[in-house]
Amino acid sequence: MTAKIIDGKRFAEDLRRRIGGHVARLKAEHGVTPGLAVVIVGEDPASQVYVASKAKQTAEVGMNSYKHELPEDTSEAALLALVEQLNADPAVHGILVQLPLPDHIDPNKVIEAIDPAKDVDCFTPANVGKVQIGLPGPVSCTPLGCLMLLRDELGSLEGKNAVIVGRSNLVGKPMMQLLLRDNCTVTVAHSRTRDLAEVVRRADIVVAAVGRPQMIKGDWIKPGAVVIDVGINRVPAPEKGEGKTRLVGDVDYAGAAEVAAAITPVPGGVGPMTIACLLANTITTASLINGLEPPG
Ligand code: NDP
Repeated sequence: MTAKIIDGKRFAEDLRRRIGGHVARLKAEHGVTPGLAVVIVGEDPASQVYVASKAKQTAEVGMNSYKHELPEDTSEAALLALVEQLNADPAVHGILVQLPLPDHIDPNKVIEAIDPAKDVDCFTPANVGKVQIGLPGPVSCTPLGCLMLLRDELGSLEGKNAVIVGRSNLVGKPMMQLLLRDNCTVTVAHSRTRDLAEVVRRADIVVAAVGRPQMIKGDWIKPGAVVIDVGINRVPAPEKGEGKTRLVGDVDYAGAAEVAAAITPVPGGVGPMTIACLLANTITTASLINGLEPPG
């Protein structure tokens, strides 16, 4: 079998087009222009690229984009004051503070300062709890993107055995909640899981969020499974020339693609979905803040 390649880039483009339609309706019917504020502290090059991409895509769907670039030596108090200012600003419906923050700033303090109504990353305890009990609100962006790809591929997820490898607060745990909500039977594996290969072999759905290049082997995959590879790992690529690198996922793509029914590539799978889901969350928060039902 050769797996179907799940094209996250194209799905994310379609999603952004639909989000653009929601933005236009919010403007025309309710006079609301969703606004997303992105705060970045310091000069981390990867974060700079990511934030620039978020700002560009926010503007492209017709939302207002507010970028706050603060120097590396910004104090925690100054950052908390900016978050308070954004919490109070009626033009801002989503606040995202780019992580990691410099060492002298406690990220938990900053996250907890964000008004949960504007927490489009779904990092605040209040929103994590809402996802757990199924109340409306923003949903963790990367897991939401994985869920959309899975629903698109499989239709109903009911009764599927899903194995998530990784239990981070960012990916693994919220993924578990979302798959449970969709009536999967969910197993969450981690670094202390015994006989991981056997656990993965039982899965109709595998979500790999480990951060270890190509750790999940092709012969761990059940024939016909759907594989969602969240991992983004940079590895040496001497075949491209000296000192060159390439991106790979947490799954041995070539091996898994021989047995899986469908698989996300890296890059071009889950990655592009994350920012699109951030925009989807901003539509959700802008709707809820204005007393409107968020689009489904
Ligand atoms: P974390 O490092 O926070 O978590 C990794 C998880 O993998 C932990 O739960 C850890 O277990 C588990 N783990 C580590 N080694 C093993 C092992 N040998 N066997 C089984 N489980 C193991 O990573 P994140 O969840 O933040 O990210 C995971 C990957 O996804 C990374 O490659 C990251 O770059 C990528 N990512 C991609 C995004 C995207 O937009 N596509 C967004 C976010 C992340 P334990 O808890 O026991 O330590």
